Amino acid sequence: MKFAVLTLFPEMLETIINTSIIGRALSKEIISCDIINIRDYAFNKHHKVDDYTYGGGAGMLMQAEPVYQAYQAVKEKIPDNKRVVYLTPCGKTFTQKMAKDFSKEDSIVFLCGHYEGIDERVIEDIVTDEVSIGDYVLTGGELPAMIMIDSISRLIPGVLNNDVSADIESFSDNLLEYPQYSRPYQWMGKKVPDILLSGDHSKVEKWRRRQSIIRTYEKRPDLLEKAELTDEEKKMLEE
Ligand code: SAM
Repeated sequence: MKFAVLTLFPEMLETIINTSIIGRALSKEIISCDIINIRDYAFNKHHKVDDYTYGGGAGMLMQAEPVYQAYQAVKEKIPDNKRVVYLTPCGKTFTQKMAKDFSKEDSIVFLCGHYEGIDERVIEDIVTDEVSIGDYVLTGGELPAMIMIDSISRLIPGVLNNDVSADIESFSDNLLEYPQYSRPYQWMGKKVPDILLSGDHSKVEKWRRRQSIIRTYEKRPDLLEKAELTDEEKKMLEE
């Protein structure tokens, strides 16, 4: 997977991208991430990339031309790229399902806004997807881009050590993950549920599924509406 990020603040992304699981995926060349500084494509000698908004209003807007030129540079490197994601509070809310869909692409370009956002004309021209990471407003699209890169990358085969673990966690099947425990067996007087020590895999699976359903019912009942439950499981919730 080739990622490219168009940003005014490359340094915001560099530490995160080179750390831990994503950093390892980069060094193993399972993913690549090209960070492009939009300011390098400013068309004036002061490298200014923002200006006042027509019609008045507080704050500055990123201008169309530097964003457009920065994107042309990416297109030269990834000519067959199909998805250009603009991170914006006005976009579709990002979900695990969207992460899964994006993980099937060969490349994705992310466009990070700053200040009051970006001139609409260049968004209309180059963007294929507008994505929000939630109903709140941040100062820039860099953290949202990192969130997307992180969640998409871990679904790409080889990025996590154990491919199975990405399939059976929260939001797969519209259920939250079951509780998990590690050593010691007893901590602060609390013991690990005995079933997890039974060695009976089918019983453990059954227990985990039940815990997932109960947890989703208690913490995120909205998700349960889309979960596929057996008649027996539905009955359990009614009791
Ligand atoms: N004026 C914009 C509005 O009201 O929709 C907000 C601009 S925000 C201060 C600056 C930039 O941060 C946006 O262009 C976008 O790239 C990013 N951003 C802020 N909140 C975001 C969110 N919830 N999801 C994705 N990107 C966000």
